Amino acid sequence: MEFCKYCNSKLKKVVLPVDNDWGVDFLMVCMNDECGYYKRGWDWMWNNYQVKSSYRFHYNTFTGYEGPLHVSKPEDYKNQVIINTKEAEAHL
Ligand SMILES: [Zn+2]
Repeated sequence: MEFCKYCNSKLKKVVLPVDNDWGVDFLMVCMNDECGYYKRGWDWMWNNYQVKSSYRFHYNTFTGYEGPLHVSKPEDYKNQVIINTKEAEAHL
């Protein structure tokens, strides 16, 4: 899976800390702030749990699992995104 099934954005490689709950080195995550799944998540979490948080769509390439990755603010995970050199050059 290379693209978010909700907004069609390219999934980004997000490196996780060693002691993460997922037990893997990285997850593929939709980091699009306009993603409908992520945007609806704020309301859903508030309505169901009265917490200000949301989740981004993620795909675990190790297990094949896909689902929500919890975030408590828009900046979460953004400094853990690995941009491959080809993409980095394309942005220059
Ligand atoms: Zn998305």
